[in-house]
Amino acid sequence: MKDKKSSTADRRNFLQSGMFGAAGLGLAVSTSSSVVMAESDKATIKREVTNEVDVLVVGGGTAGVIAAIQAGRAGAKTLLVERNFQLGGATTTGGVAFPGLFDAWGKQVIAGIGWELVKESVELDGGKFPNFAKVPRSHWMNQVHVNQFVYALLAEEKCREAEVELAYYEFPEAVVKTDAGWQVDCIGFGTRRQVNCKQIIDCTGGAEVVGLLGFERLREEERQPGSYLFQLGGSHNPASKQLHRLYVHGADSTNSRTATLANLTGRKSILAKVRKDKKRLMHLQPETGFRESYRIKGETLITVQDYTSGKLFDDAVSHAFYPVDLHTKTGVRPKPLKRGIVPSIPLGALVPKGSRNLIVAGRCVSSDRLANSGLRVQASCMGMGQAAAAAATLAVQGNTTPSEVPLAQIHGLLKKHGAIIPGKA
Ligand SMILES: Cc1cc2nc3c(=O)[nH]c(=O)nc-3n(C[C@H](O)[C@H](O)[C@H](O)COP(=O)(O)OP(=O)(O)OC[C@H]3O[C@@H](n4cnc5c(N)ncnc54)[C@H](O)[C@@H]3O)c2cc1C
Repeated sequence: MKDKKSSTADRRNFLQSGMFGAAGLGLAVSTSSSVVMAESDKATIKREVTNEVDVLVVGGGTAGVIAAIQAGRAGAKTLLVERNFQLGGATTTGGVAFPGLFDAWGKQVIAGIGWELVKESVELDGGKFPNFAKVPRSHWMNQVHVNQFVYALLAEEKCREAEVELAYYEFPEAVVKTDAGWQVDCIGFGTRRQVNCKQIIDCTGGAEVVGLLGFERLREEERQPGSYLFQLGGSHNPASKQLHRLYVHGADSTNSRTATLANLTGRKSILAKVRKDKKRLMHLQPETGFRESYRIKGETLITVQDYTSGKLFDDAVSHAFYPVDLHTKTGVRPKPLKRGIVPSIPLGALVPKGSRNLIVAGRCVSSDRLANSGLRVQASCMGMGQAAAAAATLAVQGNTTPSEVPLAQIHGLLKKHGAIIPGKA
């Protein structure tokens, strides 16, 4: 038990460190009963915020992070609005921290900013890389295992360095066309943000902005199940082996009600498993990982024939590589691509049909369901994010729309930032 003297000293130390800590964070500390409102407090209470930016990226997940960094690095004033609390989306919040596939048939086919982030995450975490020069027996052997926590931190650092402004806990509730581009009204708790931007990159997974604007989206009656990731028994050792997972059938990320239902269903199943297996729950991701919801109907639609034949589109901006991988009620039987096949992603599959100043990246890419089951993986989403941002940024600079930017300019900018261009290697 501490004596009175030491507890008084402890309290004084605590107050001092609290005051210095708070001052370091720019917070106001009231030392007497009179309350003075500091400038930083006023900023916190202010509800209405306005941003004038070149590029608005909505959704800071697998594709969105890369899009925002590319736009920022290419000189666009960029704002990234993310409805959750961190960057990375399915890779971090969903816990699917094994991005694939960057390589095909013995060489790397997707690189650029996504690869840079993955590589640095592995290096900082002291992890291992697969040997891309070797064709593995099974595709999953060349997925790169990343530490989801390190990945999220590095993603934030790279956004900061690219001068991307981040707005967490917010999402668009209304979008209207303006002479200069768009006015996007975002809402978060305690915040109403009006964003005036020239280009929007929709990286929400399910093309939510495209939906708000009323452009056509595609969705099947039946969707692939989601999965909830957790660790039972042994402790969670990030990037070493995959977490346990349970299918969440019917999981749907369309709106807050369907996402709530998916989380409740997933967590209820995990609780039942904890009781049944009588093991300790050592790790639980914050939300369900969603495999499928809406896809856009783009200027080009990638069919499964395009995908499995490795069609090289005239306006290809990135590669994709993964088996056709459709999860159903009874599981999944991946259908590997034939030897030598490397699918490509055209710019037209990122542009919602009939739209201007709007582009998407990620699993919502315009494609039929079977093609999408392969296209949706993380390395491909990262490649799409970088390509969409290159097109959007050049559209700002040329005062035009992404699909009217000369392809050579897009390829030039992508190459400058380390990406691999299909057919140009
Ligand atoms: C269980 C599971 C296993 C998988 N296995 C693999 C695998 O082994 N290898 C692999 O490479 N891929 C795998 N995938 C696929 C891959 O992880 C996803 O398809 C891919 O990460 C999707 O990227 P995205 O950027 O489109 O979406 P996400 O990464 O989901 O990002 C979307 C982001 O947008 C945010 N958002 C959504 N709506 C709004 C809004 N209205 N306003 C603001 N923000 C919004 C979300 O919070 C999220 O951060 C798997 C997926 C799942 C679910």
